[in-house]
Amino acid sequence: MSVPLVDLAAQQQEVDAEVRAGLDEVFATTAFIGGKPVTEFEQRYAEATDVAYCVGVANGTDALELALRGSGVTAGTEVVLPANTFIATAEAVSRIGATPVLVDVDPEHLLIDPDLVAAVTSRLTRAIVPVHLFGQVAPVERLLDLAESAGAAVVEDAAQSQGATRFGRYAGSLGRAAGTSFYPGKNLGAAGDAGAVTTNSAEVAEQVRLIANHGSARKYHHDVIGINSRLDTLQAVVLQAKLKRLTAWNARRRELAARYTELLADLDGVRTPVSAPGNEDVWHLYVVRVAERDRVLDELHRAGIGAGIHYPVPVHLTEAYRYLGYKPGAFPVAERAAGEILSLPIYPHLTEQQQDWVIDALRKAVIRAQ
Ligand SMILES: *Cc1c(COP(=O)(O)O)cnc(C)c1O
Repeated sequence: MSVPLVDLAAQQQEVDAEVRAGLDEVFATTAFIGGKPVTEFEQRYAEATDVAYCVGVANGTDALELALRGSGVTAGTEVVLPANTFIATAEAVSRIGATPVLVDVDPEHLLIDPDLVAAVTSRLTRAIVPVHLFGQVAPVERLLDLAESAGAAVVEDAAQSQGATRFGRYAGSLGRAAGTSFYPGKNLGAAGDAGAVTTNSAEVAEQVRLIANHGSARKYHHDVIGINSRLDTLQAVVLQAKLKRLTAWNARRRELAARYTELLADLDGVRTPVSAPGNEDVWHLYVVRVAERDRVLDELHRAGIGAGIHYPVPVHLTEAYRYLGYKPGAFPVAERAAGEILSLPIYPHLTEQQQDWVIDALRKAVIRAQ
């Protein structure tokens, strides 16, 4: 048996007939840009996230850039974000001409550590970005206070957290705005690239629509220098079909996460992830920490298990962000975690038999690596 990190085949099968019918309709009408699938999806995703506005865009990185620009981030300002994230969080800041200011993560959840944020905010800070990594909602409460006193906005990176809640409120609805990604492997994934900005602010939503549409509210009248970032109509068809199943798929992810945690409890040397109080996390990734991680990963790959590392290099140690001037040791928690984290296969259609296989292989790998 082999178990991939993510398997989209069973998911595709579940929505296949509905998606094909919707695609046929788009091709029949040749309305390839915008149209009903896009506006309907935007409405439904806004409802599903419990926000007033959703703007569909081309991908998650654009969504973050637009959410930040719409929230007042401009060239020459600063944006605070965690060192442990996917590079796109920092790229979105850089594309605006703003500077990413990094902070370490908390050792328990590996999410932004609010205790460290106050020390790095300045008069240039325009946004603080909690990244809801692995489908775990970051603790935003203190960040909201800090942002307010710094005259900045909380802008969430909700790319891995569709459907997750904290004290009953959805990730993507907790700050001034949020960017999310519908990259195929995300909890809600398209059949290609797609993303969205969510917000409760009419002003932010209007700005985002303006910038995403060539800076134009009225055709051929351009108020600001914008970009072209549209949610593709065909992708909106796919997303509508999958959104109907997101709650059930996330529930299944939670079951599988709980089952991993239970069945790995007695395995010495493996630390399993825990949800913060108040969180209903959606386990985009199930990330354990192990000693001798590279050897364990190697053993798993040899056993046909598609385990992975999210992410092997913290932002400040990438070649791309070397210019920021952070040295090794700057963010010890993130740096240490990068050498220990191991993502196990998790997706709604993973079977218990497959999961047992992963657990068994992990047991053997951990013992052999010691
Ligand atoms: C996937 C992801 C993004 C970027 O999304 P794209 O759609 O690939 O541009 C940003 N942040 C995080 C945390 C992600 O996981």
